[in-house]
Amino acid sequence: MAGRDQGSAEATSKHPVPPGFAGALVTPESYSAMYAASIADPDAFWGEQGKRIDWIKPYTRVKNTDFTFGQVSINWFEDGVLNVAANCTDRHLARRGSQTAIIWEPDDPKTPARHISYAELHENVCRMANVLKAHGAAKGDRVVLYLPMIPEAAYAMLACARIGAIHSVVFGGFSPDALANRVNDSEAKIVITADTAPRGGRRTPLKSNADAALLHCDDKVKCMVVKHTGDQTTWVDGRDIDILAEMRAASADCPAEPVNAEDPLFVLYTSGSTGKPKGVVHTSGGYLVYAAMTHQLTFDYKDGDIFWCTADVGWVTGHSYIVYGPLANGATTVMFEGVPTFPDAGRFWEVCAKHKVNQFYTAPTAIRALMGQGAEWVEKHDLSSLRVLGTVGEPINPEAWVWYDKHVGKGKCPIVDTWWQTETGGHLITPLPGATETKPGSATLPFFGIKPVVLNAESGVVQEGNPAEGVLCIADSWPGQMRTVWGDHQRFQETYFQQYKGYYFTGDGCRRDEDGYYWITGRVDDVINVSGHRMGTAEVESALVAHEKVAEAAVVGYPHEIKGQGIYAYVTLMNGVEPTEDLRKELVKWVRNEIGPIASPDLIQWAPGLPKTRSGKIMRRILRKIAENDFGALGDTSTLADPSVVDDLIGNRMNRA
Ligand code: ATP
Ligand code: MG
Repeated sequence: MAGRDQGSAEATSKHPVPPGFAGALVTPESYSAMYAASIADPDAFWGEQGKRIDWIKPYTRVKNTDFTFGQVSINWFEDGVLNVAANCTDRHLARRGSQTAIIWEPDDPKTPARHISYAELHENVCRMANVLKAHGAAKGDRVVLYLPMIPEAAYAMLACARIGAIHSVVFGGFSPDALANRVNDSEAKIVITADTAPRGGRRTPLKSNADAALLHCDDKVKCMVVKHTGDQTTWVDGRDIDILAEMRAASADCPAEPVNAEDPLFVLYTSGSTGKPKGVVHTSGGYLVYAAMTHQLTFDYKDGDIFWCTADVGWVTGHSYIVYGPLANGATTVMFEGVPTFPDAGRFWEVCAKHKVNQFYTAPTAIRALMGQGAEWVEKHDLSSLRVLGTVGEPINPEAWVWYDKHVGKGKCPIVDTWWQTETGGHLITPLPGATETKPGSATLPFFGIKPVVLNAESGVVQEGNPAEGVLCIADSWPGQMRTVWGDHQRFQETYFQQYKGYYFTGDGCRRDEDGYYWITGRVDDVINVSGHRMGTAEVESALVAHEKVAEAAVVGYPHEIKGQGIYAYVTLMNGVEPTEDLRKELVKWVRNEIGPIASPDLIQWAPGLPKTRSGKIMRRILRKIAENDFGALGDTSTLADPSVVDDLIGNRMNRA
């Protein structure tokens, strides 16, 4: 950003790989050599990496991709034949049949955890696959999963994969409307749900939500129900199926359907923070290779490690780093049904200690929330098993990074700030624990095979050399890339390949510093232009959150007569802090000092809550509308976690011009 000598400040705040972190899979030297090789000859590089997984018929062609607008087509390992579920279960049976595949940690800590071995996982997947088949599911059919974080969610994903059906997981926190939209958009034949979903001591009535949703769907859609809590639900004879009962009666033998590398594995709708959710399509071969490889190398996963990703399987993070990546690697993956603050703010750390977790992967929003509760909750638990910490979902403000490093990692765990998207299938820009010096707030350097480019937002000209700033695009394909938008290849091309010809456009803004490190500055829509100075809203937010009285902040631009755009900040204060005029002035001054006069907020609105998606992302497009005093058409709000916060913000808006 203009007016701030950041380069040097960033350069001095480098954190080396912690000295005690030894024996890493990737070292600084091997990273450089391997990265260079991956860019120089993608066919050779990925041809080799493709062997990470088992193929029924090996591929002879590796990469066949075209980013040309109008004829975008992405194919990897295209003549290979495989089965994804067999890669996640069968192939491990000989060596790891009795090893734990999934550790299930229930919402209520008094309920015992479950350890599911690879042999049990295999058996359950086969039985469930047979139930799906018995009810008419076949290769290419869509199956919607609307489930709690229970082992059956993983069984269901793998059961679909086993028979070549395409799953679409819908987060259990979504409303009946959102569920119906996704069932209809994907033209699903079957919905798999559960009676109720315990979370944070409360129960979400999944089955009755599904009942409500199915009123708006084709009446041929079947509803399979996991009786998880035993709570009573309505039952529609002929439509509803007790899936556990049928699994017990089903055969445990189910041959894995051979599928083509480019047959779809799943459709997953994006979180919708920028617009109507898109049905992101991932296929089988390339996705699995990329998920497995990033899981192993980004987290330095080694045999016997216990890996915990706290995401929900309703998000791509749960797909790639709870289910497919870890299970393809024969790992032990933790699946957590609950929330970080139940029964108390120490739950994450209690679970880490209980299961001796080695790699822990969560979102900045969770870290900030727990940071607000105080470090004493962390100190209570023995976290000595932790080796690597990760974050995903949004830029992590340095404040939270430093807290995570100090209190959770005790300064000995590398932190991997992984930048990626539903669309990318796996990490694209991320540190590797044993190889990359980190800088709090930077996703650092590209993963193997990834060619990030920074373009001028207006002209589209590639910004060579360092530092550079603009929009983030990717110059060439990688195996985990989405292939299309479900049912709408045109929208796929228009969204990602039209604006900057020849590139995959990520929608994110970024800066590359002197060292070639990437700093994601937020969505391109979130870059504001104040008197000719472009800045990412994330930067102003980060400054605000660094103030001791601020719990959370969201910043957007709004039309300003003199400056072009003014800075509008929504600020949530720490518990018990009084919102006063003096505090408002103090915060403006604070941001001036932290960043520079150009970044001073013009308007600060006290926000008891911020509009967030179910995955915890701030919906800035709604905040932008309110700041523009144009709240008549807020757009798609179906993925909002708590719609009531919006009314409060409208009622107390600052710009009534
Ligand atoms: P939609 O595309 O529907 O608006 P979404 O972009 O929120 O939804 P996701 O695919 O879940 O859906 O999120 C990807 C986005 O999250 C990235 O484009 C980026 O803006 C942000 N993001 C993810 N990880 C990071 C990270 N480590 N640092 C910075 N930003 C991140
Ligand atoms: Mg997105």
